[in-house]
Amino acid sequence: MIYGSAHAKLIKSDIAIIGGGVAGSAAAAMLGKSGHDCILIDPHEVYPDDFRCEKLNRPQMQTLENMGLANAVFKSCTPIESVWISRLGHLLNKVNYPHYGFSYQTLITAIRDDIPKTVKKVFSKVKTIENTATKQTLTLVDGTQVTCRIVIMANGLNPGLRRQLGVEQEMLSRHHVMAVGFDLKPENNNNFGFESLTYWPEKVSSKMAYFTAFKNDGKFRANLFGYWKRDEETILNLQTAPEEALTCLMPSLEKTIGKFSVDGRVHVRPIDLYQTHSHTCDGVVFIGDAYSTSCPGAGTGVGKALIDVKQLCGTHIPDWLESNELSAKTIGDFYKDPEKLESDTDSINGAYFLHGISTKLGPGWSGRRWIRFIYHFARGTFLGIPFRNSSI
Ligand SMILES: Cc1cc2nc3c(=O)[nH]c(=O)nc-3n(C[C@H](O)[C@H](O)[C@H](O)COP(=O)(O)OP(=O)(O)OC[C@H]3O[C@@H](n4cnc5c(N)ncnc54)[C@H](O)[C@@H]3O)c2cc1C
Repeated sequence: MIYGSAHAKLIKSDIAIIGGGVAGSAAAAMLGKSGHDCILIDPHEVYPDDFRCEKLNRPQMQTLENMGLANAVFKSCTPIESVWISRLGHLLNKVNYPHYGFSYQTLITAIRDDIPKTVKKVFSKVKTIENTATKQTLTLVDGTQVTCRIVIMANGLNPGLRRQLGVEQEMLSRHHVMAVGFDLKPENNNNFGFESLTYWPEKVSSKMAYFTAFKNDGKFRANLFGYWKRDEETILNLQTAPEEALTCLMPSLEKTIGKFSVDGRVHVRPIDLYQTHSHTCDGVVFIGDAYSTSCPGAGTGVGKALIDVKQLCGTHIPDWLESNELSAKTIGDFYKDPEKLESDTDSINGAYFLHGISTKLGPGWSGRRWIRFIYHFARGTFLGIPFRNSSI
């Protein structure tokens, strides 16, 4: 059911979801499939083309399976079976590692296509929010009012509504990491030999976390993560002369994958790590990036958002709907959910570990880098053992 401004000025629902990115769309699909009365509000009928998460690993797909949402997503992504791993400029290993390439827009479209027709959708922006333990009122930019019992805040980085609720945000690490995304082409339109490549830095002084290139929709997409400032030479060069900049960062890349060129625009996004506090307010719950952001290099953002949705919509909301009041204290139980806590902790630890292993000198970090090198070298050279986990 789609509402436009001409049709509705007052909409009532049990649950209102603000934001239709991965968190909000998955919540709408899961709640709708369970027969709950809910409404999804997002300004865009089709999620805009945006540089965000562009691949999922097997555990993340497994979470979607557990939520009953994997079929639609699986059909829209490019399955990848194996990955080449290069460390310190040496190709060490070619291993089985199932994962899935897509554009963020494709992922969201697939999840939204799986939302049952019973879920109301409004393509507009929420302007104001008023909350109590029994009734929440949202006012949209066109004046439409939405009243409900529970509001799910899945509105990502947007601070306006959070401030209206008096909810604080703590900046954990400003410009924690730089994410760079672009299409990569093999010379003469030949194929690269790999389906997916993970290329760890050749030296610590490059400030690079890692480079990855993977199949997506008949092309190769590349993501590069590192700890450069916005105005640093590496970033400027990546935007003006990307092939030279990549060769400068990874002198052995061409030897490993053959001649390549960068096709089209180079997207550059500095990423902050922040955490929402005072988030226990009556009737309103925060999920996904609206609750806390993640390091894209650690690859935990979508997994974390999906665990939020799975636990919230599968465990907590059905209980909450049984009672007449939804106090801040009750909402607080969600933030203490053990599975959510574990996923949040893994995400933040992953962000700092990647930073440490990529940039820190000293025997501890250097030792870790060498252990990883020797481990992959031994597996690739002597044992030929494929990986089963996500530690590559
Ligand atoms: C460059 C980059 C690369 C990344 N790479 C990875 C990766 O490899 N692996 C990984 O797991 N994660 C990655 N991430 C993180 C991941 O993309 C995010 O954690 C995830 O997309 C967050 O989803 P979300 O639904 O919480 O927020 P979003 O997708 O941002 O959705 C928020 C939605 O809310 C809507 N909205 C905002 N304000 C309002 C309002 N007032 N009213 C109505 N709607 C509103 C917006 O229009 C938007 O649709 C990456 C992120 C970036 C930026």
